[in-house]
Amino acid sequence: MISNMAIKHPVLEDASVSLFLKREDLIHPFVSGNKYRKLKYNLQQAKVEGKDVLLTYGGAFSNHIAAVASAGKMFNLKTIGIIRGEELADKPLNSTLRYAEACGMQLHFVSREAYRLKETPEEIHLLRNVFGDFYRIPEGGTNALAVNGCKEIITEKDKEFDYLAVSVGTGGTMAGIIEASDETQEVIGFSALKGTFQLSEIKKYTSKNNFMLTDRYCFGGYSKVTPELIQFINLFKKNTNILLDPVYTGKMIFGIIAMVERGYFKKNSRILAVHTGGLQGIPGMNVKLEKKNLPQIIV
Ligand SMILES: *Cc1c(COP(=O)(O)O)cnc(C)c1O
Repeated sequence: MISNMAIKHPVLEDASVSLFLKREDLIHPFVSGNKYRKLKYNLQQAKVEGKDVLLTYGGAFSNHIAAVASAGKMFNLKTIGIIRGEELADKPLNSTLRYAEACGMQLHFVSREAYRLKETPEEIHLLRNVFGDFYRIPEGGTNALAVNGCKEIITEKDKEFDYLAVSVGTGGTMAGIIEASDETQEVIGFSALKGTFQLSEIKKYTSKNNFMLTDRYCFGGYSKVTPELIQFINLFKKNTNILLDPVYTGKMIFGIIAMVERGYFKKNSRILAVHTGGLQGIPGMNVKLEKKNLPQIIV
């Protein structure tokens, strides 16, 4: 059972708004909480179909790749990771890919061109020629079964909140949260990428309209960071002892605090933000920051 933790922050006090954090990051030390939620029913389906190989896709720092590798190890399934970027095959593996490989995942590096075409029947056929039969999980893990798993993030008790906040990559987690929400609650999605193109994905899985998606706090795009964001994450850790990741949850909490300051939330209202995890990506991000001589995330 994941508890909701009250967050103290002067901006919240001034606005008479309360913020709670759902600690999905505590599900596993390396694997994003929401990625396990997304895998749960997919693993059951693979079993129903009698498949013992999982194949999926991701970039070199992907939380989803780490999650599939970890699940494969835990449930004794073979895992294959199709990784974007042929050039990575000749370089030392970063911490995410080292972890995936240590879990037993077979890494297969492909060109950006092949990666872009990964959903086409030709590319899937090519992979079947190389790897034989497998249970295929899309990039980021989002499909209908994943959305069903994400509905379980929100419990009956969470209906006492006025707002539910979540970070958005593909939109699958947000779709599950919208489905599990009450019509009187507003679900706020913070896009970790430039744009709100995830709306079309979200609408595949829900017909409800009690939500809003913004990319205002994406800090320039996916996995882009600024010293301001890193300082925010470090200060949040110092004040609450809760570590946020720089790609997803750090941007979400930054966005929530900024929106509180701007008066978005009603006085005396209650926000529940989902800490989806993503902490496994921090060492990799710190290596990049160190190379650029920028402040790093204190863990
Ligand atoms: C993948 C991920 C998300 C986004 O989930 P989607 O379902 O793809 O929108 C949010 N937070 C973390 C930590 C993630 O790893």
